[in-house]
Amino acid sequence: MVDLNKPVQYIKGVGPNRVSLLKRLGIETLGDLISFFPREHEDRSKPKNISSLVDGEEALISAFPIGRMNEIRIRKNLTICKLFVRDETGGVEIDWYNQGYLKNNFTINKRYCFYGKVSIKGGRITMQSPVYDLDGTNKNTGKIIPIYPLTYKLSQNTMRKIMENGIEEVYGKLDETLPKYIIDTYKLIDINTAIKQIHFPDNFQSFNQARRRLVFEELFSMQLALLKLKNKYDTNKFGIQFSKDVKMSDVINKLPYKLTKAQLRVLEEIDNDMESVKPMNRLLQGDVGSGKTIVALIAAYKCVKSGYQAVIMAPTAILAAQHLESFKENLDDFGVRCELLVSGISKKKKEDILERLKNGEIDILIGTHAVFEDNVQFKNLGLVVTDEQHRFGVRQRSKLVEKGHNPDVLVMTATPIPRTLAIILYGDLDISIIDELPPNRKKIETYAVTKQYEARVNNFIAKQVDSGRQCYVVCPLVEENEEMDLKSAVELAKTYKEKLFPNYRVECLHGKMKAKEKDDIMERFKNGEIDILVSTTVIEVGVNVPNANLMIIENAQRFGLAQLHQLRGRVGRGEYQSYCILKYEGNSQNIKERMNIIAKSNDGFVIAEKDLELRGSGEFFGTKQHGLPEFKIANLFTDLEMLKEVQAIVNEILSKDPDLEAPENKILNKMVDNKFNNRIEI
Ligand code: ADP
Ligand code: MG
Repeated sequence: MVDLNKPVQYIKGVGPNRVSLLKRLGIETLGDLISFFPREHEDRSKPKNISSLVDGEEALISAFPIGRMNEIRIRKNLTICKLFVRDETGGVEIDWYNQGYLKNNFTINKRYCFYGKVSIKGGRITMQSPVYDLDGTNKNTGKIIPIYPLTYKLSQNTMRKIMENGIEEVYGKLDETLPKYIIDTYKLIDINTAIKQIHFPDNFQSFNQARRRLVFEELFSMQLALLKLKNKYDTNKFGIQFSKDVKMSDVINKLPYKLTKAQLRVLEEIDNDMESVKPMNRLLQGDVGSGKTIVALIAAYKCVKSGYQAVIMAPTAILAAQHLESFKENLDDFGVRCELLVSGISKKKKEDILERLKNGEIDILIGTHAVFEDNVQFKNLGLVVTDEQHRFGVRQRSKLVEKGHNPDVLVMTATPIPRTLAIILYGDLDISIIDELPPNRKKIETYAVTKQYEARVNNFIAKQVDSGRQCYVVCPLVEENEEMDLKSAVELAKTYKEKLFPNYRVECLHGKMKAKEKDDIMERFKNGEIDILVSTTVIEVGVNVPNANLMIIENAQRFGLAQLHQLRGRVGRGEYQSYCILKYEGNSQNIKERMNIIAKSNDGFVIAEKDLELRGSGEFFGTKQHGLPEFKIANLFTDLEMLKEVQAIVNEILSKDPDLEAPENKILNKMVDNKFNNRIEI
């Protein structure tokens, strides 16, 4: 059988240089390579008549040269090679730039296929720099050609060659990954055919069959892994029954504000879960600013007063510190002891915290990833809360859970995905939704502008800062490359600091800074000692600075809608009218539409739904930023029906054979293990 773990360097056509290029695309093994799917395909199989060509399209023609190629020198470093060709219906001028070596490649009256971009001006048809073949050789034309999502210095041609070699190595040798009865029942094609046809389809029908099979498998394995996990929680475990005598209303009645109906409803769901013997395993969804923290706090109170400890996980130290502050504010009076554990603290302090935690002298531990460490031990952990869950994977969550004996789990997220989808995707969790914002929130006025408004935007920043407010500037994402993100953040901060706003207090914040530096800057921003904070998306989650009322997002078109919405949630947290200005580039319809949605809507759920709809498969921005699992081929919007179908299938399989022990299901255990062990987080 074929070894899918074989490093790519042993594949024909891959030298050391290409190894590193492939690595950047996440391709390190033969297995990675063949599951690097094309973004789209170009049909270079059927030639069009020259007379029916349309301006702007990419098309294939089959034609013969009617004269020799002319090389025309335009200036020192620019020559154009012109070749006139005809078919039975008309003529085309073909242009190549600086490619004089093509001169002797064409013979008059022999037929060639050309594939390239057509331009028609005043009746004159030209084709720019096409790829071509002598008719019948089918190297670059004559078939359906895969186009890969390449963002680095790797050409489509090279990638295609490497892929051809990779597919050749595996074709016919791949083990089937789905049980035979499933393949038969749902009329799926076999894995070998699917992998070959997804890259190099014979025709679009085979491509569709290949895609169907691979989407099925991807969704199926995800559902299987999730639902198996859920079953584990549901059936095998006895959890903690927290005391019915501890009333959440003790805290609720002392709050300086009234909880919203949605918050109360969600708390009731949580209260029921906590009092029941089944361990709670609940996802709490709520738009930014909907007040999830207080819900977690009240649940933690119930836990502590029932005699257990609680842990609250936040994705950043800043956020953890902020949580600590509000926990202390609300719980000190009840004698609840809260502590902060982040990686930046001194060794001595840390040892002290660990000691007290173990002895039960700390009731609520709030922290970051530092909490996962093995030496963090509780006396009797009863409740695990993770905030902004998409930052933590399923496995990390279970690591925390293992620090107690079947503690209750509450997972909070501001990623507002449509409920139908949430039920399926978070199959291992029950779901509560806060679908209401606290009263009197002002709408964040949002404007999408192009470069020509730059001066006005800068004036607006100055105006807000002059009147005592503060401003966030969010740097563009630069592909999925941290180093470049960093560079762009630092450069942008420099521009703001030295050129645009030399008389204001401008600082830069990015993910590569030491935790202490970050906290320090954030602290100063909170205290009003910084006017303009230029930052990467590290400020995305949960920070509360009520005096900041303006957010500028640079190159907004590069962000996903859900993420823009999340970022925008950093302002509008105080009494001041708040603004978000999206600076964008590009004039495609899709970009304009997306900017428009953010500007018009403040409802995270509406935005999330639109986002899914407008996001094509294989688009540069993956689902990572949505907090959804990442898919290689499935598209959550267009494949929703398939997802529903697959969920039903998985439910049926697991109801009959919960541990996948039947001989025909044995193969599925491997699938589940793979899902949890490889790099894909679900
Ligand atoms: P998120 O859901 O984004 O985590 P937070 O929990 O940070 O939101 O809450 C945002 C702000 O709203 C906090 O300052 C919090 O004190 C406040 N808040 C929460 N619930 C209410 C409420 N019912 N009425 C008024 N303010 C509230
Ligand atoms: Mg929050």
